Amino acid sequence: MVEKRKLICISCPVGCELTVTLDGDNILEVEDNACKLGLDYAQQEIFDPKRMVATSVKVKNGFHPLVPVYTEHPIPKPMIKDVLAEVRKVEIEAPVDFNQIVIENVLDTGVNIIASRNMPKV
Ligand code: SF4
Repeated sequence: MVEKRKLICISCPVGCELTVTLDGDNILEVEDNACKLGLDYAQQEIFDPKRMVATSVKVKNGFHPLVPVYTEHPIPKPMIKDVLAEVRKVEIEAPVDFNQIVIENVLDTGVNIIASRNMPKV
């Protein structure tokens, strides 16, 4: 069955609103993309959507009780809930360094969870 979907390409700040025509697992046409990166974006977003995730992790003996963290690369969208649950289990010891790996290869995604700021010890 042929269907049309609207997507906003987030590959650059222009944010083209794409119209994608699909027939099952086949993309028949991508329209309104100002460059060919929009084609790759539509393919990725429809068949394997990924997102960067930012959250925070508990810190023991830190200046603040939490430190902000993020995924080093985008992770599959269906895994976001499980990754957040995994991060909630963790408590790290201060001091924490900017870009320190907090969880390596979280849930076998191949992606590390990284601290996005320093957190000194009290
Ligand atoms: S299609 Fe090209 S110009 Fe448009 S938002 Fe995507 S990357 Fe930017």
